[in-house]
Amino acid sequence: MARPPLVPPGPELTPQERTRYARHLLLPDVGSDGQRRLRAARVLVVGAGGLGSPALLYLAAAGVGTIGVVDDDVVDTTNLQRQVVHGAADVGRAKTASAADAVLAISPTTEVVQHTERLDEATALGVVADYDLVLDGADNFPTRYLVGDACARLGVPHVWGSVYRFDGQVSVWWAGEGPCYACIFPHQPPPDAVPSCAVGGVLGAVCASIGSVMATEAVKLLTGIGEPLVGRLLVHDALRQTWDALPVTADPGCRVCGSRADASRPLGWATGTSAGVGDTAESGDPPVTRPAIDVGELSALLASGEVDGTSSLLLDVREEGERAIVALPGGAWVPVGDVRAGAPVPGLAPGARVYVYCKSGSRSGEAVDLLRARGVDAVNVDGGILAWVALVDPTLPTY
Ligand SMILES: [Zn+2]
Repeated sequence: MARPPLVPPGPELTPQERTRYARHLLLPDVGSDGQRRLRAARVLVVGAGGLGSPALLYLAAAGVGTIGVVDDDVVDTTNLQRQVVHGAADVGRAKTASAADAVLAISPTTEVVQHTERLDEATALGVVADYDLVLDGADNFPTRYLVGDACARLGVPHVWGSVYRFDGQVSVWWAGEGPCYACIFPHQPPPDAVPSCAVGGVLGAVCASIGSVMATEAVKLLTGIGEPLVGRLLVHDALRQTWDALPVTADPGCRVCGSRADASRPLGWATGTSAGVGDTAESGDPPVTRPAIDVGELSALLASGEVDGTSSLLLDVREEGERAIVALPGGAWVPVGDVRAGAPVPGLAPGARVYVYCKSGSRSGEAVDLLRARGVDAVNVDGGILAWVALVDPTLPTY
């Protein structure tokens, strides 16, 4: 269903703008009127990463007048495989600054607003309220739920995308017009329940496919052309090269936009930061006492020969592809999913101690808890292989 344009047209285009945007002016239903709407538009892009990068470039090229960029991260070498607004010379810079430079290189007249922060309950509503439309390419669930919640509460259309390995999803959430994010994904997964691109990998060009759909949807909504992805979830399988559109409908009982909505509750009920107001059972759990060792101590133990595979051994609970990048020598390997399923640790002698590591210490922490519940003397390696690379052997690759 077509919808009215989100943005009224601004002043007449200058002759220079008529030249620059000539291919838009030729398009039926866009024309000068649509281009003036784009120039008057204010669009917020959450995450200057894999999805935000192509979206930012196409929004800038399309002549969107004001683009806000939210990111609290700095450019890392591992980002360059897909985050095409950043170049090799940008490693170590704030992603917002790097993204702003890329936008301004394409469109010097675009106003770029850098929000170099992670949105939280206190800031999200105020930031989102300043924009006509939000593109959400966040790489973490707390931010996605927070942005979805803020957009739904403000009635701002929320162009959302997600990618993992060779797959992508994209939709437009819009409370009042169709489902909001929480209508379709009512429960935030616990940390590490769903693997991230940092763990499972992602084909860089899949980000371009999904990010460009997000930019297309933004232009359609701003100018009021076509049928936006409201009420449809587009599911992309790059290996089969298929796109399936699944119908999705608003949940009348949705706690964000439906009958159970409560505007007085703190924003971000699903983020786990608002104890007592959501379904985040873990927020009330007592702290778990979990034996741990830091990488310096582990290094000394390995050097002393104490971790001999009999009285104690190393256990890697990461995925196979992660081990191919970097791993500590020796030890056993059982992915955390197999630990959850009850798989034994190969070579583990009765009474032996297990030093468990993963990428950064979170999955290994879960594995330690599971193993200890089975009576195994398991100890978590704080900070995981990333801490090892940073503090013990910086010559090793990272990811
Ligand atoms: Zn909803």
